[in-house]
Amino acid sequence: MITLAEQGVIEQGWLLIEEGRIIELGSPMEMIEPDRADESIEIVDLSDYCLLPGLIDCHTHLSIIPGEGDQLGQMRLPGQINILRSIPNLYQDLAAGVTTMRVMGEEHYIDLDLKKAIKQGLIAGPRLLTSGIGIVATNGHGAALTVCDGVEAIRKQIRRNFARGGDLVKIFATGGVSSPASTLEHPGYSREEIRTAVEEAERVGSYVAAHAHGGKGMDYCIDEGVRTLEHAALVSEQQVERIMEKDLWIIGTFSILFHPEGIEKTDLKTESIREKVMRAREFIRENFSRVLKKGFNLALGTDSMHGQLAWEAEFVNELGLSNQQAIRAITSDAARACRIEEDLGTLEKGKLADLLAVEGDPLEDLASLRRVKAVFKEGERMI
Ligand SMILES: [Zn+2]
Repeated sequence: MITLAEQGVIEQGWLLIEEGRIIELGSPMEMIEPDRADESIEIVDLSDYCLLPGLIDCHTHLSIIPGEGDQLGQMRLPGQINILRSIPNLYQDLAAGVTTMRVMGEEHYIDLDLKKAIKQGLIAGPRLLTSGIGIVATNGHGAALTVCDGVEAIRKQIRRNFARGGDLVKIFATGGVSSPASTLEHPGYSREEIRTAVEEAERVGSYVAAHAHGGKGMDYCIDEGVRTLEHAALVSEQQVERIMEKDLWIIGTFSILFHPEGIEKTDLKTESIREKVMRAREFIRENFSRVLKKGFNLALGTDSMHGQLAWEAEFVNELGLSNQQAIRAITSDAARACRIEEDLGTLEKGKLADLLAVEGDPLEDLASLRRVKAVFKEGERMI
């Protein structure tokens, strides 16, 4: 059992769960074996497998399947259709061991409805942290149906998102890879607009997550108090240093750029997209393997590559992080990035019983994260 907490690795450990929370855990030496005759206790034997905390995907979308191409076109589909499209995606993520996901923008507020449906048990899926409709300028990357220009429009959309139950704000601060016209560095918004988003979020105790690859747009985000910087494919060494000074987070999303089922599958045929992907790939391989040594706050997300969170961990492992660090980036560090570390991210007394059982030891071989044998969410077996 990999606790990722003070107890470290517990060989052949026991976990006692009550009302969705871990109330005791330890080695057979430390704990009294439960009375097998006591019918009020259900015993689940996973002793052939390795147990770790349920995985946390810090950046995804529910309705998008990158390999289909034209992601913005996918977001423009009617809300009802996108709710239906999301259901198998949610299941795929859950089956891969993901028990929590941070959703980084959907049209029609479908993330908020799906969050409720999952809570009510209508459909199976990870618990969702939601941002509602993403804040994006008319000419910005990520503009599907709803756009906001100017501080007043931004305020209003953020307030709408919170009123409907959003947890955080997603803003598009630079261009992106998958939209043909935008560049990766040019700011999508002015400083003032980004500052307004931060003000609105912080006033209700929340924060801003910004799509930001690099350049001036990334500088604006760092300066104006954006808390999590998403993708950051072109982040400079200097920017990394300032991110560390301010204790901000980088959320890496590598599979969409590198995996053959990602952008490569369809959108690479568009020349401008192809150029951006190739440039980002080259820069990431060179830059990240260097800056990762600095030890900045890093967590990972699949950016809609459903079921591929383990791939993300394997990728940063290849770039130089240890197995333990790579696992933390999708569990305990991911929980801190999402501000849910009180309840999730480690196996500890008092935390929610989100568990993943895999075949093999991920501390030896990360590929074992793909061999999922059981998934529990708040003590309930989902897979
Ligand atoms: Zn995204």
